[in-house]
Amino acid sequence: MRRRKLIAANWKMNKRVSEAVAFADALRPLIAGGSGCDLLVFPSFFCVRPLADALAGSGVAVGAQDLFWEKDGAYTGEVSAAMLRDAGASHVLAGHSERRHVIGETDVVVARKLHAAMDGGLTPVLCVGETLPEREAGRQREVVARQLTAAFAGRPGGDAARTVIAYEPVWAIGTGKNATPDDAAAMHRAIRAWLRERFDGKTADGIRILYGGSAKPENAADLLARDEIDGLLVGGASLDARSFAAIAGVAPAV
Ligand code: PEP
Repeated sequence: MRRRKLIAANWKMNKRVSEAVAFADALRPLIAGGSGCDLLVFPSFFCVRPLADALAGSGVAVGAQDLFWEKDGAYTGEVSAAMLRDAGASHVLAGHSERRHVIGETDVVVARKLHAAMDGGLTPVLCVGETLPEREAGRQREVVARQLTAAFAGRPGGDAARTVIAYEPVWAIGTGKNATPDDAAAMHRAIRAWLRERFDGKTADGIRILYGGSAKPENAADLLARDEIDGLLVGGASLDARSFAAIAGVAPAV
């Protein structure tokens, strides 16, 4: 099955509103001729609405980096799926390694957030990936399978079909060390095999599996050339509109 590539920008805790709008203004002319792939940006909560407005009609989707699993109520500091949709978000990250390993989110917390996104009408981008010690111990497939099992617990294939998965080896995120296209493709095949086993072939074949970890204009084309890699989740190299457009193949590499 041919899956359209998706290039997603994770801005993490970067960019003020004016900078997000300036990014949109810089990106628009670069993608005016069409990009040949789907584009998505995850800004901070504050920038979701202004960025969605600034990108309206451009075809670029906007998502949030986190959500809480309850709909409303006494949960100080939290933001629900309904609030994100109201602000213009169509997607949300769940299980990003910084939330797992810096903030301390467990597999159970990630699952609750994933399910809240599914139930709240957002497209979740579920991040999975092993740490360096886990890879050195040869446990990367076991770790990713554990994360997938926990995340999709109790959910039918119909929900999985509306999910994007991002394989992000923790040792490659923000380190400048990317997985080789072969390493990434091997894990993507393992993830798709897991999905086939857990759900069914049609569901598994329809789900986009992105790679994330130090993707940049210099290595994007090699990664995207692999059929197994349905797109990229990009952190640092997505902060600049030209760099993001170059990763998407619509502007010369910077
Ligand atoms: C990320 O934050 O999801 C990521 C992949 O970051 P970077 O591209 O900076 O490694």
